[in-house]
Formats: sequence, C-alpha cells, structure tokens
Amino acid sequence: MSNNKNHHVAIIGGGYAGMAAAVTLAAANVPVTVFESAKQLGGRARGVWHNDVQLDNGQHILLGCYHHTLQLIEQVGGSIEHDFLRLPLQLTLHNRFELKTPHLPAPLHLLAGLLNAKGLSLGERLRAARFMLALGRINFTLPRDISVLEVLRIHDQGDELIRLLWEPLCISALNTPIHIASAQVLLHVLRDSLNGLRSDSDMLLPRIDFTALFPKRAAQYVKQLNGTVRTACSVEAIIPNGNKIELITHPTTIASTHTQLFSHVICAITPIAAARLFRTVPQLALIAEQIAAIPHQPIYTVYLQYPEQMRLPQPMLGLDRCFTQWLFDKGQIAGQHGLIAAVISAQGKHQNLKHELLAQTVAQEISKQLGIREAPLWHQVIAEKRATFSCETNLPRPAHVTPLANVLLAGDYTAGDYPATLEGAVMSGILCAKTIASTFQ
Ligand SMILES: Cc1cc2nc3c(=O)[nH]c(=O)nc-3n(C[C@H](O)[C@H](O)[C@H](O)COP(=O)(O)OP(=O)(O)OC[C@H]3O[C@@H](n4cnc5c(N)ncnc54)[C@H](O)[C@@H]3O)c2cc1C
Repeated sequence: MSNNKNHHVAIIGGGYAGMAAAVTLAAANVPVTVFESAKQLGGRARGVWHNDVQLDNGQHILLGCYHHTLQLIEQVGGSIEHDFLRLPLQLTLHNRFELKTPHLPAPLHLLAGLLNAKGLSLGERLRAARFMLALGRINFTLPRDISVLEVLRIHDQGDELIRLLWEPLCISALNTPIHIASAQVLLHVLRDSLNGLRSDSDMLLPRIDFTALFPKRAAQYVKQLNGTVRTACSVEAIIPNGNKIELITHPTTIASTHTQLFSHVICAITPIAAARLFRTVPQLALIAEQIAAIPHQPIYTVYLQYPEQMRLPQPMLGLDRCFTQWLFDKGQIAGQHGLIAAVISAQGKHQNLKHELLAQTVAQEISKQLGIREAPLWHQVIAEKRATFSCETNLPRPAHVTPLANVLLAGDYTAGDYPATLEGAVMSGILCAKTIASTFQ
C-alpha cells in the first residue's frame, strides 16, 4: 500500500496524450508536472496564427466514436455541442461521388447509404454493401494482417469503387497509401465508427483551434488540482536514480539546466524525441531502437483566404483526381468566412512542389472544379512532414509499459487498435495514468 504524497509524476509532452494523462492523474489526486518544450500546448494538434487569423497546424476531424477524447473535452469544461459542427457521415467527391447516410440505426444507415450512393453502378454498390456485411460476420477481425488493397481485392471491390470510396476513406483514416496500409487497423476504425451507434459515425469539425479545444483547458484543470504545467521547458535526459527517475530539464528562456526527482515518468512525446531520450538509458535502449524505426507520413494543409462571400457547396467536400483531397469551408464550420483549408494526406507528388506552386495549384483546382472566380487574397501552406506514423501492415508498436516499471510510454504511435489519431493519443495517455494510479491503491 502506498500513498499519493510519496508520488510525483512527470509527464513529458503537452500534446493530447500527455494532457489526457495529466487530467486523469490530477483527477485522481496524484501530483503531476507536465513539461512541454514548445511555448504552447497541443503538439501535432495545435493552434497557429497567420495574418492575425487563427489557424491550426492542420485541419483535423473527429469522429463520434472518439468517446475518450470527447469525454475529456467535457471534463475540462468544453461543450461538444458548442465546440463542434456535427455532421452525419457523408462523403462527397464534387460532381463525381456522393455517399449520404439516412436516419436509420447503425449499421443500416451505412448499408442504405452505400446502396444509394451516387456515382457508382448498381453492381459496385452491391459489392460495397456485401463487403461491409462480410466484415461484420468476421467481427472486423482478420486472421492475419494484410494491406488494405489486398483485402479490397479479395472482396471483389473494383478499381472505381476503390478510387471513389475506399481509398479516400483509408487515406483520411490512416494517412497511409492503400497498398501498404494495415487492413486490420482500418477494420478497427470501421468497426468503431460504423458498427456501433449511429452517432459514432458522425463527423465533428471543431469551431475553435486545437490548443483551445483541449490542451489549454486541460492545463487550467490540472493547475486547479494543484498540478504544474511548464511550457517552453524541454526534458533533456531521464536518469534512473534508485526507485526514482531524475529529469534534466532545460527551460528555453534561460541557459542553465535543472534537475528534479520523480516517482514516475510518462513519456508522451513524438517517436523521434522519445527515441532520443531513451537511447541513453541502458534499460530503454532496445525500445529506443524500435521507436526510431517507425516510419512516418506527411499531411499538408493549404489555407486560402478568399473574399468573405466565397462559400463551398458544403462544409467538407472532396475533389476527384486532384492534388487536393478534401476542402473545408471554415466559414461554415467556424465563422471564418472565405477561409478554405485544403488537405492533402499521405505521401505523394505534391511533396515535390514548392509551397508557392502547391498553393497556386490548389487554387486552380478549386477554381476549375467549383467554378470559383475570385482569387485568394493570401495563402499559407503548413507541411507537417512527420504528421503521423505510417500505419503499415504488421507494424510493431511499443507497449505503454517499459522494462523500467516507473517509466511509461504514451502517444498516438504506441500499441493500440487505432491509427495515429487524437483518440489513440488520448487513450494511451489515460492507460498510462490508470496504470500508475492503480499502483497507489
Ligand atoms: C496535419 C495533421 C492532421 C491530422 N489530422 C487528424 C485528424 O483529422 N483526426 C485525428 O484524430 N488525428 C489527426 N492527426 C493526428 C493527431 O494530431 C495526432 O495523433 C495527435 O495529436 C498526437 O498526439 P500526441 O500527444 O501523441 O503527440 P504530439 O502531439 O506530437 O505531442 C508531443 C509533445 O511533446 C513535446 N515534446 C517533444 N519533445 C519534448 C521534450 N524533450 N520535452 C518536452 N516536450 C517535448 C512536443 O512539443 C509535443 O507538444 C493529424 C495530425 C496532423 C499533424
């Protein structure tokens, strides 16, 4: 039996995983200190400013099945109703394909949506519906992991069906090209979003930036419960010291480093940063190697500010056979009229273009496809070159426990059912926090 007074948990990283861990521990009366190297919280889901306009480092979308994330946002004072524009599952590739789900219980809403999808032949619609039924029969579990493309071929999904439906879905969900993407992970996402409650498949588009949505509120919540959140303070080393862990920290505002002892450490930083910290600790060197080998995929977001009256036919719209994959109308979503976010996920030819040319290309695609006459007033390209891990077949992902009982690992890339998502990150943080809290019972 131990007691909380002897414990102090350091959380390295103030992204969604780290802040989820901090909230969970603080709520259980466990003393916590969060160290975040950047000036602001949020990590790969953070607000950024450009031309006095609030943007995000990339347009994000949440699903109704992200129960842990949505619950935590409410726990720290957010309101799902106010903070998001909630849309029923709908996939539209402008003038080419449309899948709308009617008001029926799940999974009937999806089957009816597939059977009525516009832009596919009757045969294709039937094959798509049969595929979903077949997945339900195997409980969305494959005997062994194969690529998304392979599973689609086995289930007789033709080229058009793949290009118009499954490929955009896979790239949006896994940020990984279908020929290498893990079918099993995609099936987990389909299981949780399409096979539960109808609302689980809803798409939630945030009306506020991603730092404000959760990490900033989480920091206030943690501080109210006597926790500490230190931004602009990076952790340079972790050193086992008896049954404690010594942290060497470096506030970016001063030249000197600082040392502090903690009972436990949750390392909730990117794989590259975690590999760097673990490499120097003999007990963690093997995990460091495994983490360092994790491949990544980029996400590019091209923000284009048009005159305020510019409006897309709907808040979220796909384009077919274009560099641009999805367009988001920030006017309809967040009241930022005329602001469009164009998202290009996963590796591709767009990476060869200079940002200026990429922005021009996206603006031309918008003009040609949608008949928009106005030119953008300004643009801003945000290239997240290591946006997510590449969610490939049979990818080994590290567990949340390590050979050092008091050093735990959180982050979207750690072992779990999900691809790199906010929900995966949040779940990993909660798991680490609960593992530590359970040792205090
Ligand atoms: C452009 C883009 C679009 C995305 N779209 C979606 C989407 O639509 N839906 C979705 O669910 N997910 C999406 N994701 C993925 C999602 O953002 C991530 O899965 C999630 O934010 C990862 O959170 P994390 O806490 O695991 O890691 P991170 O957010 O990377 O947090 C790690 C934190 O650790 C800090 N850090 C690093 N080293 C140190 C150190 N030595 N000391 C202290 N701090 C340190 C970093 O500054 C960072 O703040 C997207 C990601 C990107 C980049």
